Amino acid sequence: MNDKPFLNIVCSFVLITLVFIPYFELKASDAANESMYNNATNLSDTAKLNNSDNKSNVSSNTQPLKVFTSFYPIYDFVKKIGKDKIDVFVIVPAGIEPHDFEPTAKQIIDMQKASAIFINGAGFESWLKKLNNIPIIDLSKDLPLEKNGQNGNPHIWLDPVMAKAQAKNILDSLTHLDPHNKLYYHNNYNQFINNLDKLDVDIVSGLNKCKLHDFLSFHDAFTYFSKRYGISQHAIQGVSSEGEVPPQKIKEAIDLSKQLGIDVIFAEDHMDSRLPDLIAKEINGQVLTLSPIEMISDEEKQMNKDYFSKMHDNLNNLKIALKCTS
Ligand SMILES: [Zn+2]
Repeated sequence: MNDKPFLNIVCSFVLITLVFIPYFELKASDAANESMYNNATNLSDTAKLNNSDNKSNVSSNTQPLKVFTSFYPIYDFVKKIGKDKIDVFVIVPAGIEPHDFEPTAKQIIDMQKASAIFINGAGFESWLKKLNNIPIIDLSKDLPLEKNGQNGNPHIWLDPVMAKAQAKNILDSLTHLDPHNKLYYHNNYNQFINNLDKLDVDIVSGLNKCKLHDFLSFHDAFTYFSKRYGISQHAIQGVSSEGEVPPQKIKEAIDLSKQLGIDVIFAEDHMDSRLPDLIAKEINGQVLTLSPIEMISDEEKQMNKDYFSKMHDNLNNLKIALKCTS
């Protein structure tokens, strides 16, 4: 233990050179970066992020861990387990469609300052190849993925049971990065798992007695959800919500709706409603929202909307579309 005075001197030196100098640089950078929402930033966090000698990225003090998450549901999940012990940023800004997202050069530089980046994986974050030298936590690792081209279908978070596996990956990573707060993360994780279990029960009972089993989604986001709960999704678009819908696909959607007795057309939140309105008019039906929960608006954040409230909104609208009586 004779090393302690020496270590203190070394630590002070590191603080001065690695903290205070980059601090001024970072404050300017953070102020310009309005696209990332976060709960707090302070000098001590910045210090930890600039300590490039910390090769294992394992926290050794009581300051909040600073992590990045790729897009909204990953942010929400990581935040629910890390709560006050982490500073969590999201890379895809509020209100931006994440499928074909491209980070700016400045965002890439900012990401390099994190202790880790949590991603959904399954090919969702294709822009990630541009990053180097930072731990990437892939939350779809080892999960059974539905095939979709080169990658699996990425929409795992919409199945609460698969979301539990993502939560376990988050727990394992946070306890590795910050072992001092292991118990805290465990308690939050248990609470999150309980809420996912309750959501699962609500969906099972909510969709128990339904007249219809088929529904139209806009893009192929509800594959895992549909498989879990025994209903059939017909996606008007492919696995991404980007791009024009060809007239032939619109005609097919109208024909299929008439054939299956569907009278609810689902629009996604944050999408242009003209196409769902058009299809609904053709089938004399109504338009409701089915959110893939890929993003959240500023208004929703102010209303304290989260994964669970949006999943319940989806369930309520599915019950109307499928004519459920429970
Ligand atoms: Zn999607």
